[in-house]
Amino acid sequence: MLRVADLSVSYGHINALKKVSIEVFPQEIVVLIGANGAGKTTLLSSILGMKTPDSGEVVFEGKRIDKQAVEKNVREGLCLVPEGRGVFASMTVLDNLLLGAHHNLANKDRNLSRVYEWFPILKKRKDQIAKTLSGGERQMLAIARALMSAPKLIMVDEPSIGLAPIIVNEIFEILLMLNKEGYTVLLSEQNAYKALKCAHRGYVLETGTVSLTGTADQLLSDPGVRAAYLGA
Ligand code: ATP
Repeated sequence: MLRVADLSVSYGHINALKKVSIEVFPQEIVVLIGANGAGKTTLLSSILGMKTPDSGEVVFEGKRIDKQAVEKNVREGLCLVPEGRGVFASMTVLDNLLLGAHHNLANKDRNLSRVYEWFPILKKRKDQIAKTLSGGERQMLAIARALMSAPKLIMVDEPSIGLAPIIVNEIFEILLMLNKEGYTVLLSEQNAYKALKCAHRGYVLETGTVSLTGTADQLLSDPGVRAAYLGA
């Protein structure tokens, strides 16, 4: 579904990504693991088209998209739930959701009822101002808003950040449920253990390069990963 080949991205003289290659196949959950500053956010935002790469390719469903505008990429099935959620705090839950439907207005009602089915709490709180939601509810709203564009690939940047462990479990349960519903998921996480427990495969990013890749089980039992990311 997605192939990133030799992608290099910089901010001025900072080379944030150096020849990064990853693949995501349909129906997979793939996790990017890495410390602060490893390049996870840069990789996800470059895939979406928010950052123009210096070199390399991003191919989505067989088509090269690395020079395509974000809007077009969203229309073609990509979406990103940003780190920190990016929910509009002073707008209602419903208005936040409708913003996500911007690129897919024809199917707005159908997508909204599906989202309400998956996130009944958001239906209950639809007229509530987003800033009054709990952290976990805001993360659900951010994911639900992304689903309103009916994406094929959902990219989620550090969904567990700032959430209590029990809520983190709920968020990962939601990603698993969406995967069962047919969505392909690419997520970045510092919470490596929980993310690998939920994912099929993973990539370890270190200072802008892929240092290791494997199935989730292989990474969970890798001594280097255990020492650096699992505290074992
Ligand atoms: P975090 O978990 O802290 O978000 P990350 O793995 O997502 O980390 P990035 O945010 O992609 O990493 O950062 C990769 C590198 O690029 C870091 O060295 C960072 O300082 C640098 N960087 C990121 N955004 C910018 C920016 N807007 N301007 C300059 N440098 C940046």
